[in-house]
Amino acid sequence: MSEITCAFCKGRGTDPFNLLSKLAACQVCGGTGKVKVEEPMVECAFCKGSGVHPHSRLNCSACKGKGSVTHRGTKEECPNCGGAGYKVDGNLPCSECRGKGVVRKI
Ligand SMILES: [Zn+2]
Ligand SMILES: [Zn+2]
Ligand SMILES: [Zn+2]
Repeated sequence: MSEITCAFCKGRGTDPFNLLSKLAACQVCGGTGKVKVEEPMVECAFCKGSGVHPHSRLNCSACKGKGSVTHRGTKEECPNCGGAGYKVDGNLPCSECRGKGVVRKI
């Protein structure tokens, strides 16, 4: 388990889009600016590590807004999405790699 800077709020601890109020705590890290991700991790391909869903102002559904996701084993570019982390219009994470962009080689 490793503590990393919350990608969604960039470590500020507040809601980056002020959806609720300017003082609302970041929903991803709860206001601490840090999140825990289990090692080994890779950058989330779906949101490109930003923690923000590409088509909304919500947290990324693939990494939950953390910007990184746990990936064990070997890494190979996902054949379903070509490493992009999403398939058609970018609204949903790829079903094969779940937004990581990489899959475990079998
Ligand atoms: Zn945060
Ligand atoms: Zn993500
Ligand atoms: Zn994929």
